[in-house]
Amino acid sequence: MTGILERMIRHLYVHVPFCAKVCPYCAFHVHLGGGAAQREFVKALRMEWQRAREEFPLALKTIYFGGGTPSILSAELFTELAEELVAEGTSSSDSPPQEFTLEVNPATVTPKKAAAWRAAGVNRISLGAQSFDAEMLRLLGRQHAPEDIAGTCALLREQGFTNINIDLMFALPGQSEAKWEATLQAALSCEPNHISAYALTYEEDTPFFEKLQRGEWRQDEAREIAMFTHTREVLGAAGLIDYEISNFARPGFESRHNLAYWRGADYLGLGPSACSTIDAMRWRNVPNTKAYVERIARNESVREEREVLDEATRAKERIMFGLRMREGVALEEFGKDVTRLKELEADGLAFEEAGRVRLTSRGQLVADGVAGMFV
Ligand code: SF4
Repeated sequence: MTGILERMIRHLYVHVPFCAKVCPYCAFHVHLGGGAAQREFVKALRMEWQRAREEFPLALKTIYFGGGTPSILSAELFTELAEELVAEGTSSSDSPPQEFTLEVNPATVTPKKAAAWRAAGVNRISLGAQSFDAEMLRLLGRQHAPEDIAGTCALLREQGFTNINIDLMFALPGQSEAKWEATLQAALSCEPNHISAYALTYEEDTPFFEKLQRGEWRQDEAREIAMFTHTREVLGAAGLIDYEISNFARPGFESRHNLAYWRGADYLGLGPSACSTIDAMRWRNVPNTKAYVERIARNESVREEREVLDEATRAKERIMFGLRMREGVALEEFGKDVTRLKELEADGLAFEEAGRVRLTSRGQLVADGVAGMFV
């Protein structure tokens, strides 16, 4: 029999849609927004939270504020919201959350804000650095300069943050391998516990995608593979373990929130465009902040794109995400897909060891294609 505690939702994502400027490669639901818009949003989000609390049993182990730029919220608004989530989302036996992550843009940190984040329970910072190269940062439309990143890390440490992730992007237009190497070394010199390194993806309906379509830029797969391979060598040599194909951590500093997603746990998402997966239900909130705020005020649902998931679909997802992880996937998850697994093994892309299936180094180079086989 499944106990009530096992059915509780332990992971919460909060989408904050505001950014100081919208980057030309970004396809998230984001927009500009001043103090009044932020107050309206926080008010609506607190109401969505109260409705969710009535609907689902919650005992949060992880909270993740993403976006958007959650660090753009004023210290007062952030505190009001975060304190409510922490106080009401954790059970007495389970509090406080083990991991509370806040995505932060280097250009938005002040000592006052950092102190407020700490006081409200944030214990992990994910810093959207992307590059330590001034030219690349300009190309990406980022508002910070390379030197702001180290300065922000120092400020965060002064305020007591010891668990810091740095987000980086490679395979950027005009980025040489030497520039990427310099960025990796500069990131390591900030001594983060975790680095996420993703190749740039050209998302539809973005200015970057249009440039690609017009032929102004082109993708270079060989360069991307070389940078990916080099990333693994450099970060591995620095003692960061590739616990997921794009995520590297010192032992014990893996992102618990993201591990929960990749392992197929249930999670609740709040805010415009946030996704939730609970039991056999998945939905996405309306990806429009104005509509989100108005519907909440009218006591209407903000959930759209509802899907009913059967167990087979969730098992496929566990395979797709699990193959990207160092821990791999339990062999029994493959069920009827075992024929595909045999093909991967025959092609030298995956292997099985002690009941777990993992990708080989060659398989990691084509991980997206391999995952796509299980859709
Ligand atoms: S700061 Fe992040 S979320 Fe905001 S527009 Fe840029 S990439 Fe998108």
